[in-house]
Amino acid sequence: MKKIIFATTNENKVREVNMMMEDFDVELCTMKAAGVDVEIVEDGTTFEENAVIKAKTIMEITGEIAIADDSGLEVDYLDGAPGIYSARFLGEDTSYDIKNNYIIDKLKDAKGKERSARFVCAIAVAFPDGEVITCKGTIEGLIAYEQKGKNGFGYDPIVYVPEYEMTTGEMAPELKNSISHRGKALEQMKEILKGRL
Ligand code: IMP
Repeated sequence: MKKIIFATTNENKVREVNMMMEDFDVELCTMKAAGVDVEIVEDGTTFEENAVIKAKTIMEITGEIAIADDSGLEVDYLDGAPGIYSARFLGEDTSYDIKNNYIIDKLKDAKGKERSARFVCAIAVAFPDGEVITCKGTIEGLIAYEQKGKNGFGYDPIVYVPEYEMTTGEMAPELKNSISHRGKALEQMKEILKGRL
């Protein structure tokens, strides 16, 4: 079975990605399991650039195929913030309860479509021969008026998806994975890997 290193330390993402890779004949290994302990400086200016930086770094260290994602929330009313700074927004150690309420408060005068936002996920695959491929997925929503739902993580309680009349935080994991930014980007990545492995 082919080994692929997933360049993340975020257990939530590993769980989601593992669920989505179940029907695929690869062994997905975390950085920890691969014995890689490195601080990667994400100094790209886009989700794609950051994903490529992470995937290339891990591929160069391990010599194995490495995949990395970079994701976040873009709020149109806030000119795309928090964007690539989603994890660091208001400080890395600030709780998501505070971050989410802050965004809700910032949008107190925004009505209807003015509340548009999306989760974005870029995935990069770095192959040992030097080739790097990227894919991108998004899920469109509206910033909710209050936090709802205990599933998922991060900004999930404030991203209301009109088609499903619920936030991504209220969705069952299987539903979220099938329609999410990460799910869509991963589907594209799986097609690419199928052709390469
Ligand atoms: P990354 O680890 O640099 O990709 O940062 C991603 C950050 O974006 C996370 O820490 C969350 O704050 C946010 N984020 C990305 N995807 C999701 C999601 O599916 N639900 C909720 N928040 C997300």
